[in-house]
Amino acid sequence: MLDNLLSEVDVQRLRTLLDKAHNIIITCHVSPDGDAMGAVLAFSHFLWRKGKNAQPVVPNIFPDFLKWMPGVERVRIHEKHENEVAPLVAAADLIICLDFNAPDRLQGLQKPVMDSRTPKIMIDHHLDPVDFCDWAVSRQEMSSTCELLYRILVQLEGVEPMTYEEAVCLYTGMMTDTGCFSYNSNRSDIYYIIGRLLTKGIDKDKIYRNVFFNYSAERFRLMGYMLYVKLEYFPEYHASLMTLTREEQKRFSHRKGDTEGFVNIPLQIGKSRLSVFLREDTERHAIRVSLRSVDDFPCNRMAAEFFNGGGHLNASGGELSCTMDEAVQVVRKALKKYTSLLTDR
Ligand code: 5GP
Ligand code: MN
Repeated sequence: MLDNLLSEVDVQRLRTLLDKAHNIIITCHVSPDGDAMGAVLAFSHFLWRKGKNAQPVVPNIFPDFLKWMPGVERVRIHEKHENEVAPLVAAADLIICLDFNAPDRLQGLQKPVMDSRTPKIMIDHHLDPVDFCDWAVSRQEMSSTCELLYRILVQLEGVEPMTYEEAVCLYTGMMTDTGCFSYNSNRSDIYYIIGRLLTKGIDKDKIYRNVFFNYSAERFRLMGYMLYVKLEYFPEYHASLMTLTREEQKRFSHRKGDTEGFVNIPLQIGKSRLSVFLREDTERHAIRVSLRSVDDFPCNRMAAEFFNGGGHLNASGGELSCTMDEAVQVVRKALKKYTSLLTDR
């Protein structure tokens, strides 16, 4: 059995907020990943089942490898259809914010959401949540927002009414946010929940293939190029760096999501503790930074100190407004400053 996460008072407040609302917007962070999409779609299916007019809305496009998810055809993309989405947000009587901890993670959708005076709910697992919602649950110990959402939905109505579609979406987020249960995934509750989700008829092997055996040939070529040509390994820091310019993205017909997971690969080098990935943004003058680490190396500290960002202990991100060469210099400085944490074992 799972421990209850929410107090009875909290459950009642959430129930009341959901009962009172009819036109509900459900949203997530910019550049949605499997956990964000899984949570948005699982909650949407739950609310559709209750007869609510729930509208899943994402700030910008999501990767092609998530297009098989049930309900995905009903998702509206703010960046693409601003004139259609902004009025829907304005007309909503409840806004549900999933898998992010601060309004600026909504990018262009931030203004319509924050301009709305309608009640807001946050369900999230990132550190340092900003207080911008009327009801919030923020649990950093959760492996994914989908795990957290499963526990909340079960507290609301038990596991019995949960549908196959909801289970598929929740499993997808739990699987992707833990690298297929290879990190952040030692709590036995996770596997208890998976056991429950399997009773809904989900085919977890198929879900794995849907997500990971679903890339374009271009992505594969790009991965080979990155590992052979672009990977730099610094044995003195137990760290690696990969960079990807705009020109290279064009050359490999880069599409959203094509570089997903690349940053994790160099961690497979023995003794490696940190992997840094720099990608030149294709629309703005900015370098997107991704950091991944193993054990107790604090990516989030490095991201906050050097890359205007933050995140989890082992997975963080940030952004630099400079050229790629300058960004590489910042990485070198960061590695130098963190030498002892990278090498003292
Ligand atoms: P990714 O490398 O996948 O873009 O991001 C990994 C994690 O780092 C995200 O789940 C999020 O917690 C955090 N993150 C990414 N970008 C930013 C950012 O610009 N600011 C902050 N504060 N956190 C970020
Ligand atoms: Mn997440």
